[in-house]
Amino acid sequence: MKIQFFGAAGEVTGSRHSVQAFLGGHERRFIVDYGMFQGGREASLKNLEPLPFSPQEIDFIVLTHAHIDHSGLLPRLCAQGFTGPIYCTSATFELLKILLPDSAHLQFADVERAERKQKAGKWHGDMPVALYSREEVEMTLNQFEVIEYGQVVKPCEGVQLEFRNAGHILGSAIAILDIQETDSPVKRCVFSGDIGMKGRVLMPDPAVISEADVLLIESTYGDRLHRSLQETEDELVEVISSTMRGHGNVIIPAFAVGRTQEVLFLLIDLVRKGLLPHLSIWVDSPMATAATHLTEHFFSQLDQQSQATFAWFKDHPDAVSLRFIADVEESKALNKIKGGAVIISASGMCDAGRIVHHLANNLPYAQNAIVITGFQAYGSLGRRLVDKVPMVRLFGEEVLVKASIHTIGGLSAHADKAGLLDWLSGFKKPPKATFVVHGEPKAAAAFAASIRDELGWTHVQIPERLQTIQC
Ligand SMILES: [Zn+2]
Repeated sequence: MKIQFFGAAGEVTGSRHSVQAFLGGHERRFIVDYGMFQGGREASLKNLEPLPFSPQEIDFIVLTHAHIDHSGLLPRLCAQGFTGPIYCTSATFELLKILLPDSAHLQFADVERAERKQKAGKWHGDMPVALYSREEVEMTLNQFEVIEYGQVVKPCEGVQLEFRNAGHILGSAIAILDIQETDSPVKRCVFSGDIGMKGRVLMPDPAVISEADVLLIESTYGDRLHRSLQETEDELVEVISSTMRGHGNVIIPAFAVGRTQEVLFLLIDLVRKGLLPHLSIWVDSPMATAATHLTEHFFSQLDQQSQATFAWFKDHPDAVSLRFIADVEESKALNKIKGGAVIISASGMCDAGRIVHHLANNLPYAQNAIVITGFQAYGSLGRRLVDKVPMVRLFGEEVLVKASIHTIGGLSAHADKAGLLDWLSGFKKPPKATFVVHGEPKAAAAFAASIRDELGWTHVQIPERLQTIQC
C-alpha cells in the first residue's frame, strides 16, 4: 500500500492524501479529502496544479468534514473527470450545500473585481482564476454518498470504511479504513481529519480510537495550549456586562459556520447560568442563519451540555431575544440601534460581508465593544483592529477606532497539544506508522517530538508534500 501526500504536508491547508493498493486483483486508488490551499499566491498556484494521474483513475473519495481546506477542490476534480462516489456524513453533506456554492460565488466575485480593476488600469500582477462554477458545484453534489457515524460500508472490494465523530465541526469525522490487500493481513488506516477540543461547547468530545496500523494525525495547534473554557467565559461575561451597563453595542465578527453557533450557545448558556442579563442578540449573516438552522436540525449530534442549554432556551424563549436577519434592509435597520445589542456577523476576519457595515457604525463610539473570537490573518481588517490601529478606512472613508477591542482566546475548533496527545493516548499500542500532517512546519515538528517523548512512539514522520510512502 502506498500513501502520497498531496497537501496539508508541512502546512495547514490543502488536505488531500492518496492511497494506492492492490485490492481484489486490481490496482485501486482512493483519496481522503480534496481541499483547497488557502492564503496567498503560492496557494493559488498549487490549486491549479494537475494531479500526476487522471482523475478517472480514482475509485472513490472519503471526505472527513466540510471545511473548504478539506473539501474545496472537489468540484474542480469532478469537472476534470472524476465520476466516482464521495463518502461523507449527512451533516457534512448539508453543510457543503451551503459552503461549496458560496466558494464558487466568492471566486467568481474575485475574478469580476480584478477584471474591473484591470480595465481601469488599477490591477497589477496575476489575475485570479475561478476554479469552478456554480453549475460544476451542482454536478458534484450529485456524487455524494451519505453514511452515518458507526455505519460500515464497502466502497470497493478489500476496503471497509467507517466514520467516527471527530468533535471538530458539525458532521466532522475520523475516517477508519480497513484495507485488505491481496495476500496480506488487513491494515487499519486511521485519518484523524481535524480533531476537536474535548470539553468545549456544541461538539461532543472526539471519539476514542484504540487501534491503527497507519495513522495520519493533524497538528494545527500541536505546539501550543488553548486558554480554558472557564477563562473564555469569564472574559465574555466581563466585556458584555460592562458594555451593556454603559449602553453600548457588542459587535462579534464570527465565521458563519461553527464559530457563530459556538458563540450563540455560549451566550445563551451564560444567561441560563445567571452570569449575563437578558440579551438582545442579532445574527446578521445569511450563511450563519442557515448553518444555525442546520445545527438545530442535527441536535442529537451535539454534546450533552449544549442539548440541555438548547432545551432550556426552548422553555425560556424570553430569556434571550434572538433574531436572525434575512434581508439587507433589515440589516441596515440595525445601524439605528445605538446601544444594548449584541450583533454577530460575518466574515470572521472582518474583510467582507455585513460585519463591515456594523464596524463602520460602531467603531467611532467609545461605549461599544468589538469582540474578536477567531484567528485573524496578517493583513486582514480584524488583525489591524487586534493590533489597535487608531483609524481604519472603510468604504473609502476614514473611521476612528474609539470602541474597545477585545480578543477572546480559547474558542477553537481544534484540539491543542494536550488535547491531541490525550486523543493519541487512546491507542492501545503505537501504530506501525504515524504521519503528522496539517500543521505549519514548527507546529508539526514540535508535535512529532512530543509524540516521541511523551508517548514513546518511535515510528513518527512528518511527510513532505508530494512524497510517497510505502506502508
Ligand atoms: Zn476543519
